[in-house]
Amino acid sequence: MNPVLVVHGGAWNIPYDLTEKHRKGCKEAVLVGWEILINGGTALDAVEAAVKSMEDNPVFDAGKGSVLNMEGEIEMDALIMDGKTLSFGAVAAVKNIKHPVSLARLVMERSKHNFIVGEGALKFARKNGVEECKTGDLIVERERKRLFEIRKEGNRIESLFQSRKDTVGAIALDSSRNIAVATSTGGIPNKFPSRVGDTPLIGCGAYADNEIGAAAATGHGEDLMKVTLAKTAIYFLKKTKNPQKAAEKVINYLERRVNGHGGIIVLDMKGRIGVAYNTPRMAYGYKTVKEEKFFV
Ligand code: ASP
Repeated sequence: MNPVLVVHGGAWNIPYDLTEKHRKGCKEAVLVGWEILINGGTALDAVEAAVKSMEDNPVFDAGKGSVLNMEGEIEMDALIMDGKTLSFGAVAAVKNIKHPVSLARLVMERSKHNFIVGEGALKFARKNGVEECKTGDLIVERERKRLFEIRKEGNRIESLFQSRKDTVGAIALDSSRNIAVATSTGGIPNKFPSRVGDTPLIGCGAYADNEIGAAAATGHGEDLMKVTLAKTAIYFLKKTKNPQKAAEKVINYLERRVNGHGGIIVLDMKGRIGVAYNTPRMAYGYKTVKEEKFFV
């Protein structure tokens, strides 16, 4: 099986002056994950590495560069899922962790549970020697300013498309024909403390199943979770056997049913990619043995 890797870096009204940085960030993430895949590594390792690269990149709303909640804090959510076993690990509302996606993977592999949140997630991280960091290491000036502006404007600048949504996601298909998906986010700006979005919720932010394919979503979590966006995309993929149609159908459904906005990447077990969004722009990119492409 020829490997495939596809990533996204959020769907919203990405300003023109940031589009190049988003494209570059997607490319860097794809190349990191690709190196693993092309050397016979697993889809799980590839998606974790690709998402870690985006968590380290302050351009995205994940890890360093995450948006601030209404108290000026960073709380992050992440999910990783193995399409072979349907195992997954998730964390939500975690603070002071450099790579939430790696913590999610440890929850999957080293705990008896699937999902650990808040204080408990930090305890689990410490027990497992996960790299911690100071809140200040994750906060960037751009997000301090954004929170200040939002407070000043009483939320008015948070219009549908302007509110930043740079959540990241990756799907990989490896040479052993296993598929995996991972997501990571700081959520939405000015969120209530401990608010959890769709990103770490299985079937909402992402889903992977070796029998069908995988999907990773981005957008306004409150709406995305109402329609279990990622699992609904998998349902459409099973029905249409066409990843592009599945992606389009699920975004239409999101808009029609709950007036929701966002984007999705879909990959089937033949390595075919589908992408759809109903926001002005979406950052995404992919690499196969034949080509690599990056878009915003
Ligand atoms: N889905 C994320 C959330 O609602 C935001 C995003 O996609 O950027 O937390």
